[in-house]
Amino acid sequence: MDCLFCKIIAGDIPAQRLYEDDECVIIRDIEPQAPTHVLVLPRTHLDSLDKASASDDKLLGKLLLEAANFARREGFADAGYRVVINTNVDGGQTVFHLHVHLLAGRPFIFPPG
Ligand code: AMP
Ligand code: ZN
Repeated sequence: MDCLFCKIIAGDIPAQRLYEDDECVIIRDIEPQAPTHVLVLPRTHLDSLDKASASDDKLLGKLLLEAANFARREGFADAGYRVVINTNVDGGQTVFHLHVHLLAGRPFIFPPG
């Protein structure tokens, strides 16, 4: 499958890998939108949140928990952070392998643009 994040997970394309376990990999975003900007990637390919079904419930929870764990480990959880899942074209999704953005290190406005 011609998927950028599957290739990164497989190690075929380099990325700054910050955490990994059996189910997910956390990498640094190549075009950071905040002082900290990482992506939580499930190892299994799923095009987007729009393709998720009941059988993905544990995986979806896992991605959010690992984002929270990363924030606590890195020491910015108390200050706060933003978690984003861009979904399909209007949602601003550009890479069609489900991923959770975790942004921190500056205040974020709401709603986002
Ligand atoms: P999205 O627009 O929500 O699909 O997010 C895709 C994200 O992947 C963007 O924030 C990009 O900057 C990031 N990205 C694209 N290519 C790479 C790469 N090779 N390594 C790390 N992050 C990437
Ligand atoms: Zn993929």
